[in-house]
Amino acid sequence: MSTIEHWIGGRFTAGAATRRGAVFNPATGQRRHEVVLAGPADVDAAVAAATEAFASWSQASLSARTKIVFNFRELLNAHVAPLAEIISDEHGKVLSDAAGEVRRGLEVVEFACGIPHLLKGDYSDQASTGVDVFSFREPLGVCAGITPFNFPAMVPMWMYPVAIACGNTFVLKPSERDPSAANFVADLWRRAGLPDGVFNVVHGDKVTVDALLDHPGVAAVSFVGSTPIARSIHRRASASGKRVQALGGAKNHAVVLPDADLEYAASHLTAAAFGSAGERCMAISAAVAVGGAGDPLTDILTRRAHDVVVGSGRDPRSDMGPVVTAAARDRIEGLIGAGERQGAKVLVDGRGHRVTGFEEGFFVGPTVLDRVDTSMDVYTEEIFGPVLSVVRADRAEDAIALINANPYGNGTAIFTASGEAARRFQRGVHVGMIGVNVPIPVPMAYYSFGGWKDSLFGDQHIHGPEGVSFYTRGKVVTSRWPHVEAPHGASLHFPTSS
Ligand code: NAD
Repeated sequence: MSTIEHWIGGRFTAGAATRRGAVFNPATGQRRHEVVLAGPADVDAAVAAATEAFASWSQASLSARTKIVFNFRELLNAHVAPLAEIISDEHGKVLSDAAGEVRRGLEVVEFACGIPHLLKGDYSDQASTGVDVFSFREPLGVCAGITPFNFPAMVPMWMYPVAIACGNTFVLKPSERDPSAANFVADLWRRAGLPDGVFNVVHGDKVTVDALLDHPGVAAVSFVGSTPIARSIHRRASASGKRVQALGGAKNHAVVLPDADLEYAASHLTAAAFGSAGERCMAISAAVAVGGAGDPLTDILTRRAHDVVVGSGRDPRSDMGPVVTAAARDRIEGLIGAGERQGAKVLVDGRGHRVTGFEEGFFVGPTVLDRVDTSMDVYTEEIFGPVLSVVRADRAEDAIALINANPYGNGTAIFTASGEAARRFQRGVHVGMIGVNVPIPVPMAYYSFGGWKDSLFGDQHIHGPEGVSFYTRGKVVTSRWPHVEAPHGASLHFPTSS
């Protein structure tokens, strides 16, 4: 069993290493590694390294910064497979899914390669007589990223490529449940030529996070995780004067209208509900079957859920791996039981799922519950497991009202053959990311990602143009170069243009 260390100032270090956590392989149920958990002294060391590096990195030319981001892009592209293996062994997701998350992260790196264009300012020649006005954006300083277990590579890549390309330095606090991907990436940055201290990794838990949130040397915090933590991070980091964006949890609904191609809809719902064992913030966990769609849809969903192959993430035959921990498995199974007790009809039951050769693994099979209503725990809780709840609604308007009454607003989708119904839906729902016949509408890297309501605390979405805006602040310069032979006299009146 090896020890996973911090990456601070360009080298691995155990730091004070007074506390350690266990990292498991969810497929085997075995302890794989120990990870050191940072205390305030380790956070101080990381912020000090990032502060020192900021002095020169923020002054590096756009060309110099862009070259390094390009190098990083090339290295990452060449290492998708080994990084996917690391992710699969600690998270549990199947290799193709893990490779997919790296590729979606890579798209943000590619977006960040365009930083010279993205940081172009505005210029107004002769705004007043002899006066020009122009604007540009500067980096903030040391930025911190606190990320969840479910995308150990992609979610941090929503943050640091943009932050670093903008001229900031970065301290990443990845999930303590699957921390190795962050260290792998740190080494790629080193090989790309990134100066020491620009990208740092501190491993840890709440103690580490609190030290980052309270640290006067941290200028901005990006958080992605569950809603209660996102809410408290937003409060605490804002209270210490930091810029903060905190993305929270989700309960994503997919509405299926009776005019939809139900085979197509059910196939996409199956993938969106059970892919990555439902541990995606954009997973579909509630299917809202409208009118006559209900019975035929549940029939097809039942058939398709039975066809999903559950197994080790390393087995190429597997469609879906285990969930992340034994505690997550027990919680998910408990919620399925609560749904059954509260009146839901269990069409497919994933409790007690065993995989031959992996008897100690944390597996839950695909589960489909029908006749779920909004008072049941399976509806009100974010399950974050392979459980699809079918809710029935009479009309499309009722489905929209249902979505809008939900406290979350991350993603949603509609399956329909009607452009008019889709347009009414996309304009009517209070949700940040919407799919039309697309179940997981994660925006491309050159758009920004973010939910509404309890799915995001803060003003700005992540990556894309809002990411550039989040990691920089604007300056506007008003300049006059008076003619030496005929200088303008000053007036005590408030200056107006002429
Ligand atoms: P989590 O909230 O438990 O942990 C997220 C991060 O916060 C981790 O780094 C963790 O160490 C830290 N943390 C945990 N408890 C803390 C505390 N009390 N104080 C300070 N920091 C703490 O989330 P998770 O279980 O790792 O990830 C799953 C959650 O993340 C789900 O709710 C999912 O919807 C959400 N998520 C949201 C998005 C999005 O884009 N909105 C994306 C991915 C995941």
